[in-house]
Amino acid sequence: MADKSNKAVHIPHLARELAAWFEQHRRPLPFRQHYDPYECWLAEVIFQQTRIEQGMPYYRRFLEKYPTVHQLAEASEEEVLNLWQGLGYYRRALNLLEGARQVVQEHQGKIPVDRTALLRIKGIGQYIASAVRAIAFNRPDVVIDGNVRRVMGRWFALEMPIDTPAAIQRIRDLGALFLRHLSPRLFNEALMEFGALQCTPRPRCETCPMQPWCMAFQQGRPTDYPRRKARRKPTAMPIDMYRLTDGRRIWLVRQDGDSLWKGLYLFPYHPKNAPVPYPRPAQPTATLTHVLTHRRIQAALWDVHLPADQLAALAIPAGRLVPIDEIHTYPLPRLMEKVLAVPLAFPLS
Ligand code: SF4
Repeated sequence: MADKSNKAVHIPHLARELAAWFEQHRRPLPFRQHYDPYECWLAEVIFQQTRIEQGMPYYRRFLEKYPTVHQLAEASEEEVLNLWQGLGYYRRALNLLEGARQVVQEHQGKIPVDRTALLRIKGIGQYIASAVRAIAFNRPDVVIDGNVRRVMGRWFALEMPIDTPAAIQRIRDLGALFLRHLSPRLFNEALMEFGALQCTPRPRCETCPMQPWCMAFQQGRPTDYPRRKARRKPTAMPIDMYRLTDGRRIWLVRQDGDSLWKGLYLFPYHPKNAPVPYPRPAQPTATLTHVLTHRRIQAALWDVHLPADQLAALAIPAGRLVPIDEIHTYPLPRLMEKVLAVPLAFPLS
């Protein structure tokens, strides 16, 4: 306990400096204009895994096409996935759509402020619930993203691995002490911004006003924090992927069920060396590697040229035979972008 109270002594100073820093450095981001709960939710979904610069065009396009939760609720899965294309984490887009429909059906289009009600909405977990409550509704929640973990891990030289439930609880408790000094909206926004701009993975300590109260800095080892558990390596996923074509049309398969790419389109693929009902050339055209959070995909790419009638006769579950020049009108994951960059092994007709 002595340890905890020692660390907490710095909180009024850190809170004061954080507010002053934010006043000077905050970026004029569009979702900081109205603090509309729908805009805030959308921003959190998009920016949770994506840098601001990369995600901003998506955020703007989304709001332009669906300015309200009602408009989003009426969109089709395919429209939403098309807008999302290139952002990755496609399940988020589908959850967002389902969540919007729920908000319209169950809450008359008003995003609820109650935490339990928020958590019942598809795609809203602890993080987004806290963000919407604290930032849109200014309720006393602590939003804990990667930036916040890093900053708190350094300010308080937290020794526990930062992704553990114990560390998250500790950060929440420390955060609650800040809320005695700063409003929830100001504290949470400022802390995330501070992590994004100042206390970055390579911290800018030389220009940082927190030096006197930052324990990691005082110990002379800011980059030793936050502490991390050893990462699990992504599991290898070797596959054979087939471009089945007559040179004019090609088979695509809509991914369903438990697929990593639910709702998106890929060329037919199978576990490596699985028997397949179509002929296979002697050599693959290319072999590609694509890494997702938990999977390392090694795809051997096989180009199979068939006469039009044989091609059309193939029975491919959930498959669609589409003109090659229309592939890009379907929602595709990043892996497909890599695959499409490899020229076919034979000329198009
Ligand atoms: S002194 Fe360095 S480690 Fe500490 S808060 Fe500032 S930038 Fe981060």
